[in-house]
Amino acid sequence: MPVTNRNEKKGLLERLRDGGVVIGDGGMISELEKRGYARTGVWTPEACVTHPQAVTELHREFARAGADVLQAVNFYANEETLRQQGVEQTVEEINRAACRLARQVAEEGNQLISASLTATPAFTGPASRDRVITAYRSQLRPVLEEGIDFVMCEWMFDIREMECAIAAARETGLPVVACMSTGTRGDNEGVTPEQCALRMARAGADVVGTNCFVGPRNALRTIRRMRLALAEAGLTRPLIMQPVGVRTPEDGTTMMSCCLWPMAMESLVLTRFESRAFAREAYDEGVRYIGGCCYFRATHIRAMAEELSKERGGVVPEASHKGGWGADLATHANLDVSKRSSRHFWMNAKPASVGESANEYLANWKHALTN
Ligand SMILES: [Zn+2]
Repeated sequence: MPVTNRNEKKGLLERLRDGGVVIGDGGMISELEKRGYARTGVWTPEACVTHPQAVTELHREFARAGADVLQAVNFYANEETLRQQGVEQTVEEINRAACRLARQVAEEGNQLISASLTATPAFTGPASRDRVITAYRSQLRPVLEEGIDFVMCEWMFDIREMECAIAAARETGLPVVACMSTGTRGDNEGVTPEQCALRMARAGADVVGTNCFVGPRNALRTIRRMRLALAEAGLTRPLIMQPVGVRTPEDGTTMMSCCLWPMAMESLVLTRFESRAFAREAYDEGVRYIGGCCYFRATHIRAMAEELSKERGGVVPEASHKGGWGADLATHANLDVSKRSSRHFWMNAKPASVGESANEYLANWKHALTN
């Protein structure tokens, strides 16, 4: 396969090897759905062909928010998913368009671009391995011709399918990032996070971790287990986390189990300050590629990039030119509002969540204000 990697920029592994922090982008397809460019629950990315300007603008938002990586929106753009969902556009058309749009915006800044391999209905167990790898190869062919910096194997919930994706991705010669969609409960077959991490590393992934399904709290516990298992086996790899931008239960129950998913999750969405706290905790856990999946918007990514600005050589996102801690609130005419101009206030603010009574919510407001 022809590889047209853009050599002029420092690659992903180089950035990570040099101790750098790489900020990922957020949930492209979930955000496109909110904006009316993708079907709810179907999540196919034909908008890359039908509404390219919507995709370009969203990439640009994440780039301005400080993302170092723009993921081409080729989520689910494999043959069987497109056919099942009745998408008119072809695998080739969508994958090519997705890469072109990401590259167009990346060329305005210094972002890397990736293309994704995601779960496909072609996977039905070990017997389907060859068929699945063939499907991934047909997705990668147009992607490589367009030119990307690395392959992202993500949104996989069966480690055996992930191993197929890594095998196909390794044939490209590009760096391979592998994210299992698992919390502490493990994959769909109950394979533990520890085993998932070891199998991703042994299959040849250069960067391993988690994406989607669970929010930061459970994802942080999951990545810790992965990190310890990798270290114990002498397979230490750079780690990635891209959890969902909503609060999910501590026990590893996934976002999709919530009866509000996917149409009414707004009240569970993280505040930008919660995503900021997440970035710090992930960094302290040793994770160096930190981004978001569904429900992570540009405002979250901006907060994360601001939080880790010092660790990223003082780089501040273009979108942060006014500062991120509400310093300007100090001179607000309303005295109560003026008290909210500190990092401490916002990092301790308790947002409303489903199930809380109005009184509890009001008590939290008061608590946050007096902290
Ligand atoms: Zn997701």
